[in-house]
Amino acid sequence: MFSKLLPATFCLLLLTQAAHAFAPTTQKVTDNVYAIVGDTGERTPENQGMNNTSGFIITNDGVVLVDSSATEASAKMLEDAVKTVTDKPIKQVINIGVQDHHWMGNSYFLAQKIPVSALAKTVESQKNQEPMNRMRLSSGIGGKPEDLKVEFPSETFDGDEKTLSIGGTEMSLRYLGDAHFPGDAVLWLPKEKVVFTGDTVFNDRMLGVLPDISNVKDWQATFKKVAELQPEHIIPGHGNPNDWATAQKNTGDYLDWLVTNVGKSLEEMEDLGDAVKRLSADETFSFLKMAKELHGRNVHQTYLQLEAE
Ligand SMILES: [Zn+2]
Repeated sequence: MFSKLLPATFCLLLLTQAAHAFAPTTQKVTDNVYAIVGDTGERTPENQGMNNTSGFIITNDGVVLVDSSATEASAKMLEDAVKTVTDKPIKQVINIGVQDHHWMGNSYFLAQKIPVSALAKTVESQKNQEPMNRMRLSSGIGGKPEDLKVEFPSETFDGDEKTLSIGGTEMSLRYLGDAHFPGDAVLWLPKEKVVFTGDTVFNDRMLGVLPDISNVKDWQATFKKVAELQPEHIIPGHGNPNDWATAQKNTGDYLDWLVTNVGKSLEEMEDLGDAVKRLSADETFSFLKMAKELHGRNVHQTYLQLEAE
């Protein structure tokens, strides 16, 4: 009986592994805080939209998971990552971001009766951006936009700041201004001096200034507000955890570069085509992954935004 079943089971196992060959890496940041680092490239069927970074906090009462990834399949990858470190159950999920991979896996945790919390401002933007997020996600991972099971947080907080004390750990959920998306927030752990920046910070890969979504000057201002927290450990929205100097080099300096250089180009009345051609060739930030695909587009978007001011 078993010998007949075995080959089929074995094939099924192989298939399952092939479909989800990707697994994120879990990195310890402080005693009780971990980052879960996904791909730094595009969304693919293998990574199920987990081309970003999430993380979790182990408290006395259980685990607080920061963000829920993009789909039910990648949400399970987060759950598996937590299990490699602790037997404590996930007690709460907090959404700090608006882009798909920060929250569209909520349904996986809500189905287990795990509450999902966020600032009302973040949820309002999640609702506005939902159709676009569905489109972009399904074009990366396959399937139809309408087949994605998308649920919003079960608990929202009004205002720009909410202090939470969970299992003896103090954490502050803050909206410091728009970043990659309007309504993006950060989670600050004052005692540990850890900040989950969400998409305010991109490490290792280049950030993208998205048409009609990311405002480059707002993002620059928000980044500076995160710096004022004087964090010692950064868990970014994309890439590996690191210190603030690294965030400054990979994100802050690049935002400054865009605003300064495109601003100069406009002052000198250089036209769009010439500015994009000249500034796209600049290699100051070509050490960042995806610079080839994104830098020219970022210059273009920044030009349009600064010109419209
Ligand atoms: Zn993102």
